[in-house]
Amino acid sequence: MKKKNVVILGSTGSIGTSALAGLEPERDKYNILALSAAENSELLLFQAKKYRPRYAAILNPEKERQITGIKGVKALSGEQSFSYLASLPEADIILISMAGAAAIKPLLAAVKAGKRIALANKEALVMAGEIVNAEVEKHGAEIIPVDSEHNAMFQAMQGHKTGDVKKLHITASGGPFKDRTRAELKNITVEQALKHPTWKMGRKITIDSATLMNKGLEVIEAHYLFKMPYEKIDVIIHPQSIVHSMVEYIDGSIIAQMSTPDMKLPIMYALAYPDRVKDAVARLDLKKTGKLDFFPVDFKKFPAFSLALDAGKTGGTMPACMNAANEAAVKNFLNRRIKFVKIPYYIEKAMKAHRVARNPDLIEILEADREAREFVENMINAVK
Ligand code: MG
Repeated sequence: MKKKNVVILGSTGSIGTSALAGLEPERDKYNILALSAAENSELLLFQAKKYRPRYAAILNPEKERQITGIKGVKALSGEQSFSYLASLPEADIILISMAGAAAIKPLLAAVKAGKRIALANKEALVMAGEIVNAEVEKHGAEIIPVDSEHNAMFQAMQGHKTGDVKKLHITASGGPFKDRTRAELKNITVEQALKHPTWKMGRKITIDSATLMNKGLEVIEAHYLFKMPYEKIDVIIHPQSIVHSMVEYIDGSIIAQMSTPDMKLPIMYALAYPDRVKDAVARLDLKKTGKLDFFPVDFKKFPAFSLALDAGKTGGTMPACMNAANEAAVKNFLNRRIKFVKIPYYIEKAMKAHRVARNPDLIEILEADREAREFVENMINAVK
């Protein structure tokens, strides 16, 4: 059998490194065609030497030198190099594991090239879900979700009719602060927010999990991925992160996907689909797991979640505005310039100031994104 050529955009991040580790025992089936990174040229260099992809790309052109000179590896740089790699004619699977809004152009490039895409990034779909879906249809591309919840629902939908789905139930661990009062959230430090109880992830998504913004983004992501109206998408707190999400059908059946919480499973599922990879993660022993809890979400305690949901329902350029405001606010929290509880505050301000454009094109979406970032930065600078 011919080896499948895999492109990993965002190979130095949490998903990218897990994917490379997961592909290691599968090297007879997969070939690493290209790797890319935004910042971490040292790790990218290490990966390029180890896996010898045909291409390695770094965002900053000044860093291109640092990844040049490895035999058989062509070094590239700049934003457009990611879109180039996403649409290489010889590529079979594009894993998009870059963080944030930056993934939008490479995602669209892969879609327009009619590729199979293993999508770990949720921001691009949140911002431009309608455009992405229209292009997927037009070019016969395929998106297999890597986000664990969506991967779980995707698995639970195999062999079923979409029309028979009554409701999607997205599970949420609740993040590190689910048991704290609103008053206790006031003085949360960066270190506390970066300690997730069940998942090991990148910094931005870990903060999003602590504010529950991540769950809001996931509802919008599910809306576009599965073409489900918002009324049919529910969120439920499940602290153990064993049930990764559930699909309820019209007859009353609920189908759940369970496993140990390790991103290697959804990553390898998305890469190998419809095949399954042997021992992708440690086996789940339910006799040892014990009880599984489920609770409703306390929306009041986590305003970021409700803001995301509002933005999703409003549609147009609003999700792009909300997403960008969140990225800007999270960056400032990580840089210790604003408090944890101020993250939703700035998102709300940006959303209130935003004038929604209906049926936006990509230019309008990127403009809404830029405006919201600028708005949040200016507001934070004004009080400093
Ligand atoms: Mg998730």
